[in-house]
Amino acid sequence: MASSPEEQFVTTATENYETTCWGCGLRLLLPSRASVFKCGWCGAITNQNKRKCDDKCFRWRQLRDRCFVSVVILFMLFVIFGGVWAVYPHAFSVSLLCGVFHSIVTTILAVATISFFSFASFRCAGTPPSILWGSYPTIGKGDLEDYTFCNYCSKPKSPGTHHCRSCGKCIKDMDHHCPFIGNCVGAANHYHFIAFLISAVISTIYVSIMSVYTGMHIWPPLTYSFGRSNQAASSLAWRVMSEIFLSFLRSALFLSARGIVLVYLFISSVSVMIGLSVLLWQQLFYIYEGRTYLSHLSSGDGKKDCQNLVRFFGFPYSVSRFLPKFRVTQKRHIKRNIHVM
Ligand SMILES: [Zn+2]
Ligand SMILES: [Zn+2]
Ligand SMILES: [Zn+2]
Repeated sequence: MASSPEEQFVTTATENYETTCWGCGLRLLLPSRASVFKCGWCGAITNQNKRKCDDKCFRWRQLRDRCFVSVVILFMLFVIFGGVWAVYPHAFSVSLLCGVFHSIVTTILAVATISFFSFASFRCAGTPPSILWGSYPTIGKGDLEDYTFCNYCSKPKSPGTHHCRSCGKCIKDMDHHCPFIGNCVGAANHYHFIAFLISAVISTIYVSIMSVYTGMHIWPPLTYSFGRSNQAASSLAWRVMSEIFLSFLRSALFLSARGIVLVYLFISSVSVMIGLSVLLWQQLFYIYEGRTYLSHLSSGDGKKDCQNLVRFFGFPYSVSRFLPKFRVTQKRHIKRNIHVM
C-alpha cells in the first residue's frame, strides 16, 4: 500500500503524553510529544504539525490551467481543420476512394481524441470514499486504518488519496495534476487520460505522415547548381549535400499557404508526438508496476505484473466506465461529539 514519508515514521500510542485522535475522538496517551502518531484503536494517523491551511494561489493555478486547456483545444482544432484544408484537396485528387478513406480516418481520430480529452479534463478525477469519523464507539476498531486528515478540506483522506492544491480538493488514487487537461489524473479519469494519450499519439503519427506525403506532391521543384569540380570524394559528397539542402531552402520561399501549414503541422505533430510518447510510456510503466506517479515517488519498487495492464484496460471495466453512474451516497462526512475515554 502507498504511504507518504510522514506515514512511515509513526508511533503507536501507549502512555504519558495525552492528546486526541481526530478519527475516533478518543484521548490517547503517547510516550512522548510525537508530532505524528497512529491511533491504536481506529488506525487513523494524526499529524499535529499540520494546521488549517488557506491556499492563496488557488485562483492563479485555476487561471493557468484554463489558459493551458484553451491552448490545447485550439491546437487540436487547428490540427484537425488545418490538416483537412491542407491535405484533403490532394487526397481527393488521387481518387474519391482515397479521399473518403482519409475522411473516415480523420473523423475517428478527431472524435476519439476530443472525447477522451473531454472525459479526462472535465469529469471529477476521483472522489475519496465517504466515511464516518470523529466519534467513539461509532468508529470501530481499524475502521480508519492508515487514514490521514486533510487540513485543506477538513475531511479524512483514505490511503492513496492526496489533496491537490490546483483542484482545491482531495483526489482518490491521485497520479498527478496535469495542467494541460486542467485536472488531476486520479481513480475516475486515469483510463480516459491514457486513452487520450494513445489516441493523440496515433493522431500525431497520422498527421505527420500525411503532411510529408502531401508536401512531397505540392512542394515547389528543387533547382540545383552543381559546377564541374575535381574535389576529393569526401568534400564532393559534402558539397552535394549542402547544395541539396540549399535548394530545399530556396524552394521553400515559393511555398504556397497550404505548404506552409503542412510544414507547421509536420513540425508541431512530431514534437507533440515525442513528448506524449514519453509520457505514455512512463504512465504505462507505472500501471505495469501497479502504482501511480505519486506512490512511485513515495515508495520503492512495485509489483511488476502484466495483469495490472490487463486489469487497467479490461473490457468489462472499459464499458462500465463510459456508462453514466448514479452514485448512491451511503455515508456522509459527519463530525460527531468527541467522547472521552
Ligand atoms: Zn482513533
Ligand atoms: Zn483535501
Ligand atoms: Zn489537481
